[in-house]
Amino acid sequence: MSTSSTSMSPATLELFERYVVPNYRRFPVSLVRGEGSWVWDDQGRRYLDFFPGWGCNLLGHCPPAVVEAVQEQVAKLIHVPNTWHFESQGEWARLLSERSFGGKAFFCNSGAEANEAAIKLVRLHTPPEKYKIITFEGGFHGRTFGAVSATAQPKYHEGLEPMLPGFDYAPFGDLQAVSDLIDDQTAGILVEPIQGEGGIRIPPAGFLEGLRKLADEHNLLLVFDEVQAGSGRTGEWFAYQNFGVTPDIMTLAKSVCGGIAGAAVMTTAEIAPSMRPGMHAATFGGNPIAARAGIATIETIEREGLLARTKELGERFTARLAPLVEELEFAKELRVRGLMIGLELTVDATSVVGDCMEKGLLLNATQGTVIRLLPAMTLTDAEVDEGCDILVDVLRNLN
Ligand SMILES: *Cc1c(COP(=O)(O)O)cnc(C)c1O
Repeated sequence: MSTSSTSMSPATLELFERYVVPNYRRFPVSLVRGEGSWVWDDQGRRYLDFFPGWGCNLLGHCPPAVVEAVQEQVAKLIHVPNTWHFESQGEWARLLSERSFGGKAFFCNSGAEANEAAIKLVRLHTPPEKYKIITFEGGFHGRTFGAVSATAQPKYHEGLEPMLPGFDYAPFGDLQAVSDLIDDQTAGILVEPIQGEGGIRIPPAGFLEGLRKLADEHNLLLVFDEVQAGSGRTGEWFAYQNFGVTPDIMTLAKSVCGGIAGAAVMTTAEIAPSMRPGMHAATFGGNPIAARAGIATIETIEREGLLARTKELGERFTARLAPLVEELEFAKELRVRGLMIGLELTVDATSVVGDCMEKGLLLNATQGTVIRLLPAMTLTDAEVDEGCDILVDVLRNLN
């Protein structure tokens, strides 16, 4: 990445170099403030953010209703353990249940934690000899040991082996491979209905239906990891609603609390009791602040009609970016579902990130060759155009 016009406070940089574990590749930029689809760095530079909060800020930076709910809650009751009841957690569960498949919620704090809970629930709900879960190449489920074992990408396993046993990997989209892997010990199938980190991969027609059918035939639990694709990102409340296939268990995180840390596992009323008292817990799970933020997020999306708007925005991005696939030899494929947008190149896409940042646009590259946008539902048409102008310009001048 070119850093000629990016800079940051040397004192902040030194704090990181001396005191922060270097497990992230960080841009040499220090952010201080965000509003909507804009963020400002400590040098006063402003960026248009097409990747706000790594998919967490689906309502943009600092959405007013979330800010207000959190500010009110934090002064009243910050944390109580899950040995008590409090209204907002129950209310948040109701809102999620009514917008999904009418089940029950378990709350935790991150995507990986939600998937850990789902993995446990699959094992708990099926007979003792059944423990294996089929997952998919290119999938991403998080970094804790269960979640990373479920993640069928060898680069995330290097140096960590042995992984948690019980995961079988199939190519994404290959029903025959799944069918071949099923045996008497198979308990479930875990899949992202749209792969996010894997490059915004939309499943081939009939794939999710086929998984549902295999699960039903073999008494397996079907788990959808909607950590990235859920919570309205695709223009439906949940990604599965785009495909008409309902899972038995669904995991949510990233944007579910409008940028506040929070996560949920949704499951049916029949399966839920298998997570019996004492078998699983999360100290901060569903805490009053996350609950209020989760409620405010859902209310904002509904009040402002943002699901329909998300589809409209997806179409606007498509109209702007699809012509690139015709125009540029190295632009291979555009994949869009609402505000999950992937533009796959035949060349390295990482330099595009730095070049766009130079021009004041933030976005992401994943899997080396896929430009990934996870923009906010609150974008204006003018902002879409402004960012796309930059991206198109950078791509036309890519060498
Ligand atoms: C980001 C992500 C996770 C991991 O979430 P964390 O909050 O980082 O643990 C899991 N699954 C999917 C699909 C994700 O996009």
